[in-house]
Amino acid sequence: MAELEGLEFGKSDFVLLDEVNMEQFMENLKLRFEKARIYTFIGEVVVSVNPYKQMDIYGKEAIDAYRGRELYENPPHLYAVADAAYKAMKRRAKDTCIVISGESGAGKTEASKYIMQYIAAITNPSQRAEVESVKNVLLKSNCVLEAFGNAKTNRNDNSSRFGKYMDINFNFNGDPTGGHINNYLLEKVRLLRGGSEEMLGSLHLQNDPVNYVYTREGAASTIKFNPVIYDLHQIQFYNTRIMNCVSATPQGNLQFETDSESVQVVGSEAVSDIAGLTTTEPDNVTKSLLYRTVATGGGEVIEKGHTEKEACFGRDAFAKALYERLFCWIVARINAVIEVKDYNPVLHGKNTVIGVLDIYGFEIFDNNSFEQFCINYCNEKLQQLFIELILRQEQDEYQREGITWQHIDYFNNQIIVDLVEQPHKGIISVLDEACLTVGKVTDTICLESMDAKLGQHPHYTSRKLTPSDKTMEFHRDFRIRHYAGDVTYSVEGFLDKNKDPLFQDFKRLMYNSSNPVLKEMWPDGQLSITEVTKRPLTAATLFKNSIVALVDKLGCKEPYYVRCIKPNEMKSPVLFDDARCQHQVAYLGLLENVRVRRAGFAYRQPYARFLQRYKMTCEYTWPNHLMETDREAVEAIVTQHGFQDDVAYGHTKLFVRTPRSLFTLEQERAALIPILVLFLQKVWRGALARMRCQRMRAIYAIMGCYKRYKVKAHFWEVERRFTNVRNMADYGKSVEWPTPPAALAQFDSITQQLHRRWRARQIVKNIPPSDMGEVRAKVAALGALSGERKDWGCGRPWERDYLSNVRDCPQTSSNFIRISKELRNKDQYNQVLFSGFCRKVNRFNKSTDRALFITEKHIYKLDPKKQFKVLKRLPLESGRPNRHPIPYTVCHLGCRDEQWLCPLSVSVS
Ligand code: ADP
Repeated sequence: MAELEGLEFGKSDFVLLDEVNMEQFMENLKLRFEKARIYTFIGEVVVSVNPYKQMDIYGKEAIDAYRGRELYENPPHLYAVADAAYKAMKRRAKDTCIVISGESGAGKTEASKYIMQYIAAITNPSQRAEVESVKNVLLKSNCVLEAFGNAKTNRNDNSSRFGKYMDINFNFNGDPTGGHINNYLLEKVRLLRGGSEEMLGSLHLQNDPVNYVYTREGAASTIKFNPVIYDLHQIQFYNTRIMNCVSATPQGNLQFETDSESVQVVGSEAVSDIAGLTTTEPDNVTKSLLYRTVATGGGEVIEKGHTEKEACFGRDAFAKALYERLFCWIVARINAVIEVKDYNPVLHGKNTVIGVLDIYGFEIFDNNSFEQFCINYCNEKLQQLFIELILRQEQDEYQREGITWQHIDYFNNQIIVDLVEQPHKGIISVLDEACLTVGKVTDTICLESMDAKLGQHPHYTSRKLTPSDKTMEFHRDFRIRHYAGDVTYSVEGFLDKNKDPLFQDFKRLMYNSSNPVLKEMWPDGQLSITEVTKRPLTAATLFKNSIVALVDKLGCKEPYYVRCIKPNEMKSPVLFDDARCQHQVAYLGLLENVRVRRAGFAYRQPYARFLQRYKMTCEYTWPNHLMETDREAVEAIVTQHGFQDDVAYGHTKLFVRTPRSLFTLEQERAALIPILVLFLQKVWRGALARMRCQRMRAIYAIMGCYKRYKVKAHFWEVERRFTNVRNMADYGKSVEWPTPPAALAQFDSITQQLHRRWRARQIVKNIPPSDMGEVRAKVAALGALSGERKDWGCGRPWERDYLSNVRDCPQTSSNFIRISKELRNKDQYNQVLFSGFCRKVNRFNKSTDRALFITEKHIYKLDPKKQFKVLKRLPLESGRPNRHPIPYTVCHLGCRDEQWLCPLSVSVS
């Protein structure tokens, strides 16, 4: 409904047309076709134009886009209808059906396949195996039925020659639990094509339909072979016996000849082929082909020989019946596989159904026969249903919502339906009567009888009734003015096809076959001829009954429609044949559909939804209204736009009469949307930024708290570890410092330094003043050595006068004591500051052992090798430290291999 696609693609719903006329309708349809928009809505009906090319609109994304959405929320699509039907079924537990109609080649079968695919895709999300298997059989059975029931006609490569109505059963969960197929087979001749030569040979077939009487016409009616076998396997039955049945059909090729009095089969091979394929006795086959058992009035049974014509007739009827029964048997087998099993309403909830009807569309050929008559009658019935349901639904809705319904003129085709099916008067009844009449009744006589009975009918005519109309032949043609157009039928063959007499002899022959599949297909062959007294129903009556049953079935369901249109006869993806399309639009009653839809109210929506969609167009409702009910808010929107005369207020929905009002709203909405989007973007961006900012602030607050906590935690830990250091022997030297947080790195190093100083003070405090000199000297030495020397006697008392110490120098001490005494006498010193060995290194890096002797007055260089002979004597000025380092290397411990420059300036002072 909504203009989601932009107007360049035309209007996505025909109710939005400015005026409902053929011109505008066709213009929109064509524009959309050219823009590759093959689907268009009329309210809830989808009009589909066959694109004749693969469209990229059925993939997973498309399925996701339509799943669970309302019809107008997405562009028109089959999926939208499929979803609407599924939703109605699931939400309201309603049985629904999707009726797909259109002429042959308009894309009905494709549409039904996409619908099935969609339903399969959106159901069973839990992938339950049994549901999967039901879905699989439902999807695959379609291919098998198509293979057997479709044919290549000159209008469609894969024309459905059977109508198909498939019910899919769902449990309360909305998952498919089974299904049922009804088939409406019309033509009964087919041939395999695509099988291997070997296989066809074994079936006595040739891979060329032209060689067969029933399939010769246009080399049509063939079955594609290989995919069928695959699918037969998929739907759980495949049997060579089935293949034999299929291949027996075209064996109707056999011919007869009249030999003097009696009729004979030409060549015995044909008979033995049939006997072989049907596993019957060749004699019995011949007998069935040439004789017929009849019951005489006296209850006697006699055998009556056929004339050549009767024999041909019997052969044809037999071949067709063989095919028909096979097809029905296949459908029955599929049904047996997919039927809902073990269903218990108490356990499984309400069983709901979605029906998908894909049935032959309206056909007008140059030569229209009995089949076209049936097909077109079927379409008249479906059109009736369409009119009835669409109007009834519309009416029901107005009633439900308390709105007065306005009648609108549309063509009601009931009159044509009556022309065909009315008892005693209708065409079918005339045909049946002719078939029942004993004696020679020809097609021409039947036509005369129709002329007599229906001459006055406005929708019936023939050449006799309008002699001036040269498009019809005398005594052959009659014309029905269908709702879809005039169709001229040739009455030739009508009676035969309607009678379709199959002699009991053939049924018995098949029943007695040793092929159990064949036997199962022909249960009526069991009856003896005397029991078969009742005349079988004619083909037309059987068909009518099945269609009436179908219509009844559909009538009690909520219908959804797909109306298919064939754009051209050439299967071209670009050609849009205006005349042909217009014709289809006319006979599908699409314009009337639009009118009906618009005559009442083109558009309706629940108040809440309407409000949600258009609230931005009114200041009182944007962004939220303050009124009591949504209905009042909707009224405010409507009044503000001046549409009050164009709407009606239902109990739960607003009804808009003209699409223009809606269109105005849509346009206004479309103009406001970019502003709203910008506004929303602005607000959202602001909201996002605020959120981000708040988050950052929170992060910083948390970080701050955490950092403070870490600092405090560090302090607490330091406090804990060092509380007791005052009482510790090492004043906390052994206490390990906790790793500080990065912020406290500098603080930590300062604290450690403070601790060291404090510790030093504590230690120094306890040193007796007498030791202080030595301590100071050691500190000075430590500074002076600046780590250059490993062992410098820090840990031992410094005794100064090492050379006179017997312990340090047991051999030389006596010599040194003597010299030191001599020097005391001579130089009058009071105190020995230092004596020890040292090594002199000259500038050529040549070393010599020496001894150094320091008093408060002098420094002496002595030669230890010559009993400490004084080599040099340097006076020290007392009170004034010598600031120049002495170029001696001294080892005051007597250790001669370590050298350094003696910084006497410090130690001596
Ligand atoms: P019908 O069932 O109405 O006789 P089909 O469904 O068999 O017609 O369609 C006839 C052909 O048109 C298909 O074989 C296919 O080639 C083409 N066709 C129909 N619908 C589509 C579609 N939606 N996308 C692509 N091709 C399609």
